Amino acid sequence: MQQKVVYVEEQEEPPGRCPCPDAFPFSPLSPSLTFRQRHFPLATDNDWHDWRWQLRNRITSLKKLGRIIDLSDSERQAMAFNGATLPLAITPYYASLISPDDSSQPLRRTMVPSVNELLVSQGEEHDPLGEDKHSPVPGLVHRYPDRVLFLVTDYCSSYCRYCTRSRMVGRRKGYNPARWQKALAYIAANPGIRDVLLSGGDPLTMPDEQLDWLLGRLRQIPHVEMIRIGTKTPMVLPQRITPELVAMLKKYHPLWLSIHCTHPDELTPEATQACTMLADAGIPLGSQTVLLSGINDSLETMRRLMHGLVKIRVKPYYLYQCDPILGSAHFRTPVAKGLEIYQGLRGHTSGYAVPNYVIDAPGGGGKIPLIPETVVGREGNDLLLRNYEGKVYRYPDIIGGASRAS
Ligand SMILES: *Cc1c(COP(=O)(O)O)cnc(C)c1O
Repeated sequence: MQQKVVYVEEQEEPPGRCPCPDAFPFSPLSPSLTFRQRHFPLATDNDWHDWRWQLRNRITSLKKLGRIIDLSDSERQAMAFNGATLPLAITPYYASLISPDDSSQPLRRTMVPSVNELLVSQGEEHDPLGEDKHSPVPGLVHRYPDRVLFLVTDYCSSYCRYCTRSRMVGRRKGYNPARWQKALAYIAANPGIRDVLLSGGDPLTMPDEQLDWLLGRLRQIPHVEMIRIGTKTPMVLPQRITPELVAMLKKYHPLWLSIHCTHPDELTPEATQACTMLADAGIPLGSQTVLLSGINDSLETMRRLMHGLVKIRVKPYYLYQCDPILGSAHFRTPVAKGLEIYQGLRGHTSGYAVPNYVIDAPGGGGKIPLIPETVVGREGNDLLLRNYEGKVYRYPDIIGGASRAS
């Protein structure tokens, strides 16, 4: 009898309560609410949580930006050239995460132009990855034998200042279904293509109907085994991840998502909610992060970002060395820094939290992994390997087929 009482008591504590935050609306303490009341006093709860409202109210001019943040001289000068470079656009939601008074705040530097963008350094190029020359039809990059990159729109809700495709995004062309036909025909005519990666621009800025149509057309091609979408939407416009969108995406499994994440400050309750909904729909989530000077180039920041991502079921996939686009010197770090960060993660934390560190090779060579040297030598048949603590271990390797100890 005694045992039965204990059993009942244990049952009172139900196992596995969901630790996820509740659905909208968020707590009144959310920083975005204070921001909203100050800068968008007429916006209702429904407005703020509506992705179309977020898009209509993007901050796209010096005047609007100057009302929200205290612009530095460098930022003000850069804006004088707006139009010559990548346009300015920041969703009200993302603007609520930006520091109004600190121009060196990481999230602010990723979105607010600085005068450094106008300085071109040696080795920088308009199209460093040589995408245009690997483009069999407009909007499609076919670099690897079995997969293609399909640039489905030139529009993003917010423009990252270090964008690899600065040369082509944000030119007010948006998505263009007529152009998709040629790309779809190319994919259909090439049975070697088993993986299609939708990118842009940000595909998740398109309306559900267009995306549904496009995914449906891709799924009709028998040799397309997997579809992936590259997006920053869960971080810059989490309101876009609606139950309707998720229900539509789910129809097209296996569908994978690569989420562009830059800094742990992006991992808000809103972003968490968006990733939770996507993961619950069975969409495997990966991350892509660009290593950026003064923004995320410290082991502490990168560790927080990677741990934060695995906590919301996003597997860190790639850490990119910043591409040498025009005016990117202020964002780029030495490769040694990236290797140091990689070394600080590998072995020290969960393997799932360690991304592949790569350089997308200028000239169109594709992604090349960078890994700190672990094979330190050989002694006879023994391979000498360095572990994460710097200690050397031996592995009895077999050279030229099985050999017997004599
Ligand atoms: C990054 C990229 C891919 C996908 O590469 P994975 O290593 O498979 O993620 C495909 N095509 C192009 C042109 C790319 O830049």
